[in-house]
Amino acid sequence: MTYSTGQSTAPRSGVLYPPASVGVVGSGQLGRMFIQAAQRMGYRAGVLTAGDDDPAAQVAHWKVIGESDDLAALREFRARAEAVTVEFENVSAAGLRWLGRDRVVRPGWQTAWICQNRMREKRFLARHRVPHTPWCAVCSGDELDAAVRKLGLPLILKTSSSGYDGKGQILVKTAQEAPSAWDSLGRPAAVAEALVDFAAELSVVVARGADGRAICYPVAMNRHQHHILDATVAPAAVGPVVTQEAHRLALAVAQAMGTVGVLTVEFFLIADGTLLVNEIAPRPHNSGHLTMDACVASQFEQQVRVLCGLPLGRPDLIMPAAMVNLLGDLWISGKREPQWEAALALDGGVSLHLYGKQLAVPGRKMGHLTVLDPDPDAALQRALAAREALVGGGVPHRIRIPAEAMARCV
Ligand code: AMP
Repeated sequence: MTYSTGQSTAPRSGVLYPPASVGVVGSGQLGRMFIQAAQRMGYRAGVLTAGDDDPAAQVAHWKVIGESDDLAALREFRARAEAVTVEFENVSAAGLRWLGRDRVVRPGWQTAWICQNRMREKRFLARHRVPHTPWCAVCSGDELDAAVRKLGLPLILKTSSSGYDGKGQILVKTAQEAPSAWDSLGRPAAVAEALVDFAAELSVVVARGADGRAICYPVAMNRHQHHILDATVAPAAVGPVVTQEAHRLALAVAQAMGTVGVLTVEFFLIADGTLLVNEIAPRPHNSGHLTMDACVASQFEQQVRVLCGLPLGRPDLIMPAAMVNLLGDLWISGKREPQWEAALALDGGVSLHLYGKQLAVPGRKMGHLTVLDPDPDAALQRALAAREALVGGGVPHRIRIPAEAMARCV
């Protein structure tokens, strides 16, 4: 592989060495953490951002203000970035394709194109015989009726595109309410999914280089609330068979997609040990944030390494870890700034990550806490206690995401 012409400083080997300039399309917290990882390794890192004060824009060496389909902004971005990555799948695939004409873009536009549309993603999984949630396409009233008949009730209706963190999803409990549920989403092209009775939710972050070599992070176990990730523990309390199968499927997805970059596969684990792919994210993932504190090389460092053609780092956990998200609700339920000092004083092992967002909105991801502990469940309980201290303490509601009973039987 040879890097582009133009102003590229890439040597012939195709490896981009520091202090080359790399760019990320998208300016949320994932872009911020990518930029921070790149800067730590000596790169100059910039962002194509819609807002001047967005989380990634705040820390970037340089920024270009514009959308991912704005040709003038793309031109300026291309002039400054020798290699390009994304932090979010809902960017213009056409814009990425245009950048890819003379810049390295990882992952490529095809990966983003598939993952930004649930229907395309599910068709991709079906084509490659990767087990996934039973589903039906819904583009008309007749297809909606057929989906109810085929999948049964309850089911979840999800917009094909632009949905994330529970947005664009609605639970349908009865056949009568199906049409109004679809109306409430705006009657978009949608997928209907059977409601899966899962024992646990798992995820695997994969990094795959241009030479086809890939690594998998330890399987993580996730807990969602209101369709938004709440907490992650790694390693997941599952046996070696499930672990191996989750890794096999995640690698198969990355390979079939031809992804060069970081990609995350989310699974539903059924009590009998069956794994169904729920969703694919062509980028680092919220469930991989704990890799920053707990792994030899973080998911963001791998994103930098793959983008620049460097060898992959080791994904090993230094110690089991838990991560809990800090949503905007914390600011609102506490009716004031969270009590940072109380949480950090409670436990010196808590790592605080905040994304620099000025506006706290319910459901908005503002930051996260990570705790390392030889016992994964203790890591989770400590992280929950610290989060509880942010809003005035008390004993945290005890949750257990490692589903031990299930883990023992698979
Ligand atoms: P998604 O954005 O599709 O990943 O959905 C967010 C969360 O909603 C998932 O992580 C699950 O907790 C829940 N969810 C989504 N789809 C289903 C389903 N088909 N069956 C059960 N739970 C689901």
